[in-house]
Amino acid sequence: MTSTPPTNRAESAVRIVSLYPDLLGTYGDGGNALVLSRRLEWRGIEVEHISVDAGAPVPDSADLYLVGGGEDGPQVQATRELDQSQGLHRAVDKGAVVLAVCAGMQILGHTFPDATGTSRSGLGLLDCETVRVDRPRAVGELLTTNARLTTAHGVVELGQLTGFENHAGRTIPGPTSVSLGAVEVGEGNGDGSEGVVTGTVVGTYLHGPALARNPRLADALLEWIVGPAVMIPLHDPDVDALRTERIAAARDHELAPRRSWRDILRRS
Ligand code: GLN
Repeated sequence: MTSTPPTNRAESAVRIVSLYPDLLGTYGDGGNALVLSRRLEWRGIEVEHISVDAGAPVPDSADLYLVGGGEDGPQVQATRELDQSQGLHRAVDKGAVVLAVCAGMQILGHTFPDATGTSRSGLGLLDCETVRVDRPRAVGELLTTNARLTTAHGVVELGQLTGFENHAGRTIPGPTSVSLGAVEVGEGNGDGSEGVVTGTVVGTYLHGPALARNPRLADALLEWIVGPAVMIPLHDPDVDALRTERIAAARDHELAPRRSWRDILRRS
């Protein structure tokens, strides 16, 4: 897989597809589409956004696909449908950019665990494997050191990535993938790294939604598609304040994993 930009984009509008929000919409990642759309509109770039529910045809001609987080059962169904459709595979072959969050990242890899912990085949669009480990579920704030993404236009410095995570699986990046950054607070992939990038497919454990908290990541994805010339800088003090606050909260372990009710009852 290469990092070539999409060649199938209509000149007039950037086409964004949210995949299966009915199955993979548990963690609020639908907000990523809103962030991308607004950041294009603020720059005077037209955007067409559609949501594709399970069972509907997956278009293969969009520029950017979003896959969100969800529960173990719906992950299996989403994988089956995307495998049957092959629309996302064709889009990636044509150079489409993908942002896949948590369950979305897991199912785009080679393998992921189902609700019983049994390993299932993923879609093979990300070079990684997700496994169930004998460790507590990773729940809480997730903060990286300075992260970076290599796009068709070069290396983009993303600063620190901030978000929250909530997952049982841990992800092992493969030899042809790179991570987004290293973990400062939280669990991320589980090996000290966070995120998996293979070609134009970007996976992350960051909810938030991730792009609201990390506008540089949003702009890096958009720049991949539209090129740097039209990416006029945007300044938003509210986003800066949110980032400062959440980075401090992560460092204070404000939302550090608490004991589950099952643990409390077991020990009382
Ligand atoms: N069901 C997966 C896990 O627990 C993904 C969860 C999520 O998308 N937040 O690992």
